[in-house]
Amino acid sequence: MKDTHKHQGLRNQLVKTLEEKGITDKNVLNAIANIPRHLFMDSGFVDFAYQDKAFPIAADQTISQPYTVAFQTELLEVKANDTILEIGTGSGYQTAVLIEMGAKVYTIERQKELFKKTSLFLPKIGYKPKKMIFGDGYKGLAENAPFDGIIVTAGAPFVPKPLLSQLKIGGRLVIPIGDDIQTMTLFIRTSEKDFEKHELGKFRFVPMLKKRN
Ligand code: SAH
Repeated sequence: MKDTHKHQGLRNQLVKTLEEKGITDKNVLNAIANIPRHLFMDSGFVDFAYQDKAFPIAADQTISQPYTVAFQTELLEVKANDTILEIGTGSGYQTAVLIEMGAKVYTIERQKELFKKTSLFLPKIGYKPKKMIFGDGYKGLAENAPFDGIIVTAGAPFVPKPLLSQLKIGGRLVIPIGDDIQTMTLFIRTSEKDFEKHELGKFRFVPMLKKRN
């Protein structure tokens, strides 16, 4: 499948919707304007790719709603060349947004099926993460730490300690915390031992699960 003028038009509409909902980071909006989201979805849902909605992907998972992707990415305050760890690769759409913004991205997925599919797909359309890992995001990625930012794209029952300890001083962790409904939570590491915590509204994610599958 290709990217056409029609798709570009629909993307511009989507960007407008996101601006109306309060997203202001131009780099986030540009990334969303550039990435062909319809290529990340199963063929049955392609017509819905530019609606501001989450949709099913393989292995009972979802591609996050564009607003949620934009909101989380804006909170990360991504700058070119930042090193970012993503937990929950899924379709790879959030990964592509981070790469489009110039970040070096490490991404972890616990579902084998999605890991395989997305590892092949992302480079094919020109988005190359630094590393894609089939593993358990609760542990983070000590060997490549510390990170400027860490983003968790599944609902976490609590904050995994390793993720806090793998942040640079000044680094940001964006993580939805809760069981059925999650509170978007931002931690900023202000010193070796200290973290600022901000709570930023309610969202609904698929659950962050333990171990690989
Ligand atoms: N960022 C994705 C969102 C996918 S939904 C996108 O834009 O499409 C969340 C993803 O987190 C799912 O693919 C799920 O399998 C994965 N996940 C859940 N628990 C995990 C864990 N402990 N470690 C890594 N990935 C996990």
